[in-house]
Amino acid sequence: MLGDNIFLKIIEKKIPARIIHEDEHCVAFHDINPQAPVHVLIVPRKVIPTHADIKAEDCELLGHLHLVAAQLAEKLGINDGYRLVLNCKERAGQTVPHLHLHLLGGRNFTWPPG
Ligand code: 5GP
Repeated sequence: MLGDNIFLKIIEKKIPARIIHEDEHCVAFHDINPQAPVHVLIVPRKVIPTHADIKAEDCELLGHLHLVAAQLAEKLGINDGYRLVLNCKERAGQTVPHLHLHLLGGRNFTWPPG
């Protein structure tokens, strides 16, 4: 359901999170189950369920998420190398139906991803 997911509750401050960035378009907070020393989620306020649902009108918003990711990487001291992940749908590991970027850093990453 569009109006009911865990990230929306965090955005609306109905449940707590370690928020490190907020602006009119997105909220960023530390992942509750970090997969790297730094693991931040960058979440648009607009509910877009999956990457497959993006529309032309969302292009500016998606660019903004990337700008925030780069700024947070610098702020968090991981801009010597970091990974951005966007899981699309269950098969790719998406568990929360609200598009989000994972910003991971503070360790080396391997390729291919799991
Ligand atoms: P996905 O699997 O959809 O790509 O990513 C969802 C992420 O949200 C996971 O990394 C998971 O640990 C994180 N997550 C799920 N519930 C919560 C929560 O209540 N608070 C925070 N901070 N992160 C959460």
